[in-house]
Amino acid sequence: MKISVLKPKKSLGQNFLVDNNVLKKIVTTTKVEESNILEIGGGEGALTKFILMENPKSITVIEKDKYLYHTLSEKFYNKKNVKILKGDVLKFRFDDYLSENSIIFGNLPYNISTKIFTNLITKISWPPKYKSLILMFQKEVGEKIIAKFKTKNYGRLSLLSNFRLDVLNKFIVSKNCFFPKPKVDSMVIHFKPKKNNKFEIKEIKNIEKISNIFFSKRRKMINKSMNKLFNNPEKIYKSIKISPNNRPSDINNHQFFQLIEAYEKEGN
Ligand code: SAM
Repeated sequence: MKISVLKPKKSLGQNFLVDNNVLKKIVTTTKVEESNILEIGGGEGALTKFILMENPKSITVIEKDKYLYHTLSEKFYNKKNVKILKGDVLKFRFDDYLSENSIIFGNLPYNISTKIFTNLITKISWPPKYKSLILMFQKEVGEKIIAKFKTKNYGRLSLLSNFRLDVLNKFIVSKNCFFPKPKVDSMVIHFKPKKNNKFEIKEIKNIEKISNIFFSKRRKMINKSMNKLFNNPEKIYKSIKISPNNRPSDINNHQFFQLIEAYEKEGN
């Protein structure tokens, strides 16, 4: 893949994927044929081109950079099923652009990857119209998303992700596969929305709120946070089988979700 951009913009996270094997691997992670695709951050169209080879029904690409928007529009002008949009994905109303069974692809701009990911979980009607998310993050962020309890990366992102999504597959992409070469490796993760969620959390923002309270004091015991949140923390310790001496990462995600349910039941 030849890159024509003269000076990639760091501020827009422009590290272009230039390895055809990796591009192929990303688009064959799931069945693209006859699906409606939304691609975040089209760049020069490397991923778009590989998605097209898999015969999707349609592709909508969103790109913020004016120059790249024009490059993409020129490159795909004769493809009837490709639509290029110029805009900021952070202001994007996903619901308006997804159709039943959409797949969202994105080699995400690193500086806003967690924000985009959070929006795809929280700022969208649920269940979502998308059937799959195939997203590339910097490896460190990917590790936070897939982290299990009792590990150092476990926290807000893993809880949010685990509440609504299942991870089907993941793989590492070397920093050598990009131009310009970033400082760190990347991780591609394939997610699917969870079908049945047994936890009745009404406000997803409470997951963010509670995890921020607990994990901002990651090494401290949870008793102080619990006293702040609950009138009768003893009852909660007993019912969800946790202890005031636990650290936040000792509480598994099911226990966290139960804790948030209890918090909401107290009228919060
Ligand atoms: N898809 C291309 C590839 O794989 O080579 C480009 C990926 S590059 C990591 C991220 C792309 O997202 C860049 O083209 C950048 O201009 C675009 N971008 C950055 N911020 C954006 C935003 N807020 N909204 C939409 N696109 C954005």
